[in-house]
Amino acid sequence: MPELTDAQLTQLIKDIGLKRPRGGSERKPINHGTFRGARQHRYRKEPLCQPCQNAENAYQRERNAKGLRKKAAPKPKVYLTEEEWQARVAARQSGGAQ
Ligand SMILES: [Zn+2]
Repeated sequence: MPELTDAQLTQLIKDIGLKRPRGGSERKPINHGTFRGARQHRYRKEPLCQPCQNAENAYQRERNAKGLRKKAAPKPKVYLTEEEWQARVAARQSGGAQ
């Protein structure tokens, strides 16, 4: 997809009837050293500064401490004993092509 110039983009937006977002958080100064500031960095697709990184880490730690993790812990993997494994392989071989 070719790069559009600002003028082309504006025209395109007008053509398809979209409204340009009004400034929003793009224009607000970043509140550094807070989780909100970290969100603003991410929103702007720029690297987090150290205070914001620290704030985000602290936020994540707090979430984890409260048990609000998004993903549940994966189920523990079941390991077969050597005998079980051999029995399984033997069953597969005897049941296979004859
Ligand atoms: Zn920052």
